[in-house]
Amino acid sequence: MYLKSLVLKGFKSFADRSVLPFEPGLNAVVGPNGSGKSNISDAVLWVLGERNAKHLRGQAMEDVIFAGSTARKAVGVAEVDLVLDNTDGTLPVDFSEVVLTRRLYRTGESEYLINGAVSRRLDVLDILHDSGLGTGTHSIISQGSLDSILQSRPEDRRALVEEAAGVLKHKQRKAKSERK
Ligand code: ATP
Ligand code: MG
Repeated sequence: MYLKSLVLKGFKSFADRSVLPFEPGLNAVVGPNGSGKSNISDAVLWVLGERNAKHLRGQAMEDVIFAGSTARKAVGVAEVDLVLDNTDGTLPVDFSEVVLTRRLYRTGESEYLINGAVSRRLDVLDILHDSGLGTGTHSIISQGSLDSILQSRPEDRRALVEEAAGVLKHKQRKAKSERK
């Protein structure tokens, strides 16, 4: 599985529909300060189900909607599509390509779609569950959290590595079965 592309429309500084293509392997996003690099990782977090506006560097969830600039007026809806290549079947669905979509209207209404079909946030989380992606995982490390990881206790750092390696879910399952 790999990220094929990200489509942003009305999300933060991306007022117009922007398609960002990615390649398998390592990709880098470069640009001057304030050009929207972190907004791209915010978009990835958001479409994967992030509910805490602060984790998206905002005060309220509405802050993800393009708020207007000197050249353009604000828009009423933010939308992000995350296009995943699933030819290796990492995600437990019968599609070689999975498009996850999240929308938020200024009225507060929001929706998730999986390959265009209206879905629940839970369905999105379910699909991602064993993939190492998703909220709460450390597949995305923000500028600020790097310091706290470097300064954390060895036990905590080990937990992070285990989670990133996909060991944590097996530990949780083991603990659960031992409790039964
Ligand atoms: P740096 O190199 O400093 O980390 P960056 O490329 O990561 O910069 P971002 O933080 O992604 O930059 O982008 C910041 C820009 O996004 C600011 O100009 C800010 O005004 C704009 N922005 C954030 N939210 C919105 C919004 N809702 N509507 C319009 N513009 C927004
Ligand atoms: Mg940044």
